[in-house]
Amino acid sequence: MERAAKTLLFLYKIVIMIDTHAHLMDQSFDSDRGRVIRDAFHAGLQTIVTIASNFSDSDSGAILSRDYPGLYYTIGLHPHEADSWHADTSRQSMKNRIKSALAVGEIGLDYFYHFSDPTIQKQVFLEQFQLAMEFNKPVVIHCREAFSDLRSLLGEWKNAPHRGVIHCFTGTIDDAEYFLNLGYFLGFGGMLTFSRSDHIRTAAGFCPLDRLLPETDCPYLSPIPLRGTRNEPAHIIHVYRALAKLKHTHHSVLCEAMRNNFNKCFSPSQPATACFPIAPDSSPLN
Ligand SMILES: [Zn+2]
Repeated sequence: MERAAKTLLFLYKIVIMIDTHAHLMDQSFDSDRGRVIRDAFHAGLQTIVTIASNFSDSDSGAILSRDYPGLYYTIGLHPHEADSWHADTSRQSMKNRIKSALAVGEIGLDYFYHFSDPTIQKQVFLEQFQLAMEFNKPVVIHCREAFSDLRSLLGEWKNAPHRGVIHCFTGTIDDAEYFLNLGYFLGFGGMLTFSRSDHIRTAAGFCPLDRLLPETDCPYLSPIPLRGTRNEPAHIIHVYRALAKLKHTHHSVLCEAMRNNFNKCFSPSQPATACFPIAPDSSPLN
């Protein structure tokens, strides 16, 4: 292989990115889901976690993950849908599906939209959190304008092996410190690029590099300069650029750190490593 081509391939290999929070089962991807995933892998992603909002998402995610190595899925009921939890059947439905899922999520509390009653949100969160503990799964937690209640709930489990991420983190530095001390990672996405998100940048700046996770939360929260368009995993490059700037670090250093964080947080069966993501070649540098 030509020296220049070898160098290019080497550079490509060390800047492999990940998207730890994508909603690929969203209906906005119905017409071109496969293309979106392939575009992401060609854009330099090796790992994507498609996050479930309900059990149907989880079942579809399981099917999709069989077609794409590096694509993982979660199981869980979003706080917006907490009212649809059935005391008799939902727990067993989750138990039947949980083993092959990467994580439990997204679960949590959302007091901004109030789509579900807060008391029910707390109950359903705890049910799912306990299942995650029982099956030794990490959790993907959504929290919007409910940090005080989330801290109280998790605080009652101080001795539990907390593993997971507070995704799309919007809390204060005090909140960040609390969740970091419990053992959580903090997820940051397109909001890092918004002009009015100084508090998010402050929190990301405060969070140690080895406790950060990058995410798109697609199809939502498209980063600048793509605001107003459907977000996709391939757009994670703008999140990486914002993080690299905040952390005064090189893109390749950030890429390696994020892969390590992903492996630590989620312990996937196939760790994210700096390897060629499409059409594997056993020794492309030789
Ligand atoms: Zn989400």
